[in-house]
Amino acid sequence: MSSTFRCFYVEKNAAGNVTRGVCELPREKLPPGEVLVRVEYSSLNYKDALAAGGHPGVVRSLPHIPGIDAAGVVEESSSPKLQPGQRVVITGYDLGAGHWGGWSEYVRIPADWIVPLPAGLSLEDTMILGTAGFTAAQCVLALETNGIGPAAGEVVVTGATGGVGSLAVKLLAQLGYHVVAVTGKSQLAPQLHAWGAKQVIGRDEVLNTSTKPLLSSRWAAAVDTVGGQTLTTIIRQTKDYGVVAACGLVGGSELPLTVHPFLLRGVILAGIASAALPYDRRLGIWERLCGPWKINGLSILATEVPLTGVEEKVQQILKGEIIGRTVVKL
Ligand code: NDP
Repeated sequence: MSSTFRCFYVEKNAAGNVTRGVCELPREKLPPGEVLVRVEYSSLNYKDALAAGGHPGVVRSLPHIPGIDAAGVVEESSSPKLQPGQRVVITGYDLGAGHWGGWSEYVRIPADWIVPLPAGLSLEDTMILGTAGFTAAQCVLALETNGIGPAAGEVVVTGATGGVGSLAVKLLAQLGYHVVAVTGKSQLAPQLHAWGAKQVIGRDEVLNTSTKPLLSSRWAAAVDTVGGQTLTTIIRQTKDYGVVAACGLVGGSELPLTVHPFLLRGVILAGIASAALPYDRRLGIWERLCGPWKINGLSILATEVPLTGVEEKVQQILKGEIIGRTVVKL
């Protein structure tokens, strides 16, 4: 291994402004940890774009390297659980948040964060999925666990052309669900149909700002990446004993509601929190994603960029302009 490594580095300059860009650092700068992984692929998630701006809600201290996902090969390990040469995947925990992340040729991390590469998936596949796919799969599991099968009716997916949304559309469609995709990009309707959506609707159809406790019911279930008034609307539009998996906040973090959807319709609101999912449940999600829930034609969702291409993609994701998944090749 060379004595230096390339990474996307976020720091504060003397004037107190956050600056960022690709640079080369000495290897001794890597934080301490049991396992050194040579990263082959990382990915771009909405949270990474916030980290790239030094957002204090995501990043604990600067300088920082974003990247909440990484896939690569173990180079050094002081843990008996992992051997040099082993191919591995890391999503979430503190990677790319409180700890230097995957937009880097190397990460040094605790052994407990590492999942062996799931059988039948390539390192690149795992990063097309990344935290987005891992989150979409947890949303689908929440539906299934709460009794919503493909015959239950329409499942609405918001932010459908984004990372989590596109993977949720594809996975649900493949499992036989009737997917209604919500998008602000109506020109991408043909693409959403190709990914498996039965119907494509505009954001305004799931945006009702009235204070009515309940709205006409339509959805058997929902995967919501938007939050705020969109989530409030969807919960009020959900049918008796329907399930709403809430995972995102690109449209807002408030949730103005009454308890009526829960008490009169038995709606279940399932919270999804990927980063700290306990290890055994984490393995269960990956076992599904490489087995019965293996997503066909994953690569049609992906755009690959080198480290030097990340800046442009960060700006796009913050404007809600990303389509599908962005994979970072180290
Ligand atoms: P992306 O940017 O890839 O996707 C978000 C999509 O939401 C956009 O592509 C756009 O899709 C839509 N959108 C953007 N802005 C708005 C808006 N103001 N109102 C309505 N729709 C909007 O992000 P990710 O898929 O990476 O993440 C989505 C959300 O999920 C984020 O809030 C992220 O933090 C969260 N998340 C949470 C996780 C958890 O563990 N709970 C894990 C992973 C992500 P379109 O144009 O098609 O409408």
